[in-house]
Amino acid sequence: MYIKDLLSIRPVTLSYEIFPPKGQASCDSVLATAERLKADVPDFISVTYGAGGSTAKNTVGICDYIQNNLGLTALAHLTCVSATRPYIDEVIQTLEQNNIKNVLALRGDLPEGMVSPEEFKFAQELIAYIKERSSLCIGAACYPEGHVESPSKDYELDFLKEKVDQGCDFLITQMFFDNDVLYRFLYQASCKGITVPVIAGVMPVTHVKQIKRICSLSGTALTPKFKAIVDRFGDNPKALMQAGIAYATEQIVDLAANGVRGIHIYTMNHSNVAHQITENLSHILKGDEA
Ligand code: FAD
Repeated sequence: MYIKDLLSIRPVTLSYEIFPPKGQASCDSVLATAERLKADVPDFISVTYGAGGSTAKNTVGICDYIQNNLGLTALAHLTCVSATRPYIDEVIQTLEQNNIKNVLALRGDLPEGMVSPEEFKFAQELIAYIKERSSLCIGAACYPEGHVESPSKDYELDFLKEKVDQGCDFLITQMFFDNDVLYRFLYQASCKGITVPVIAGVMPVTHVKQIKRICSLSGTALTPKFKAIVDRFGDNPKALMQAGIAYATEQIVDLAANGVRGIHIYTMNHSNVAHQITENLSHILKGDEA
């Protein structure tokens, strides 16, 4: 099913992100993760795409399994910064041949030492290219706290509007820990005429190692409440796991109460964490069906 259609019929969608194995490693454990996630009946599962195309085949293969073996809606991430047009044509064709109807069109980041063919500079060019050649439903990324390379949020919203104007059907946010940041962003985006549904990306932080990496790579700020959790429970893995799940649960309750259209959980392939959060929220996310 097209994600844009799911967003129009469900009061709030629930979806998960998983990532493929690196290099030549087998996909079996990721397929098993997807299978366990199926028990929560997510509206869709997205599969990330390795920078520089390093996991391309695995991304499409895992999406194929989600879509055709598990009978769930799959969203394939696709980056363009290191890609040529014939290569993108091939990926689009493979997605369509495998009945995968949704793609998250991203610029991506060039891995160190790799030279870009410069055929696509920004995500909006990939969006326009896919739109012209396929009937795929197209999503794109957005950044409530600003993208790390962005000179100003206002500029960034203009570029985001370009992505929507080129045919992006929905947006998924970078993770954030302060919901007010998202609410301000949604208001600013609507002032720019960005009216497509915005799905909130929520990262349950359950390991100390994750925290520093996340904040340095994404520019996401920790809230004082979250810092206190890390200070108090950082050296107690089980306590931090519970606190991370509780924090994400509380964040999602507030997002759903404030009319956010979709919740996308960055599972980091931890199906147990995703499952616990979803179980905590069954009536909130599934309404009368739960
Ligand atoms: P763009 O939208 O192209 O923006 C990149 C930067 O360029 C921004 O600062 C923007 O403001 C600026 N810009 C845009 N247009 C112009 C212009 N005309 N002139 C000047 N500046 C401009 N990465 C992966 O490698 N694989 C994944 O699977 C993946 N999944 C992601 C999923 C989500 C939901 C998110 C939020 C991010 C994901 N990323 C992934 C990370 C993403 O690839 C990086 O954040 C990357 O740096 C930007 O990609 P983008 O598509 O947002 O780029």
